[in-house]
Amino acid sequence: MLDIKLKAVAMATKGFMPEVEGDALFVAACSACDELPRLPIVEVGTYCGRSTVWLGAAAERCKTVLFTVDHHSGSEENQKGWEWFDESLVDANTQKLNTLPTLLKTLQQAKLGDAVVPIVAESRIASQQLNFEVAFCFIDGGHGELPTQLDYAGWTPKVAIGGRLAIHDVFSDARDGGQAPHDFIYRPALDSGDFVEISAVGSLRVLRRIK
Ligand code: SAH
Ligand code: MG
Repeated sequence: MLDIKLKAVAMATKGFMPEVEGDALFVAACSACDELPRLPIVEVGTYCGRSTVWLGAAAERCKTVLFTVDHHSGSEENQKGWEWFDESLVDANTQKLNTLPTLLKTLQQAKLGDAVVPIVAESRIASQQLNFEVAFCFIDGGHGELPTQLDYAGWTPKVAIGGRLAIHDVFSDARDGGQAPHDFIYRPALDSGDFVEISAVGSLRVLRRIK
């Protein structure tokens, strides 16, 4: 389980990771990293670092690192006028959303600085430049058609055999939420025959690469 102090930091951090799904993410990441020692974890979609606390703690426990990727200017639904807009995350000078300062505060509070490597970049650029296998890949970035397609193409090939692909906001019924993570990441991964599902908690799905 996640350390009680880290749990308090995670729960106090703005974001979209429910506690039970964060706990499931931590368990799944620890088990992947135990099986694949020294391979890192990647997270796509850091926001203010809420899910990052669970994944960073898993990385620290397994003596590896978490690379967490975000351009920090927010997804479409985080912008002004949209459902998930948070005025307090707007930079006073640029008037644009900027979640990086909050992430840095979260990491400081969690004391996870040595285990978490923030990458401030467009997901597509980061995936093209980072050429290594990962034990655990968590995709929770842009939730539109194009970003999910690009994340699938860019990140899933990096999952080592035996490693895990975790996807957030997977809804098989459109009445529960947007369909892009389901249609463009979860389904293609299963349909490729390279992954099998090993757990499902809330909208979190964890798949294992079998070939
Ligand atoms: N995992 C977070 C929530 C992530 S919200 C939590 O637990 O709270 C989705 C994040 O993806 C946003 O911060 C947004 O800036 C980022 N994002 C969306 N599209 C992106 C892209 N193309 N490249 C990099 N980051 C992106
Ligand atoms: Mg999410």
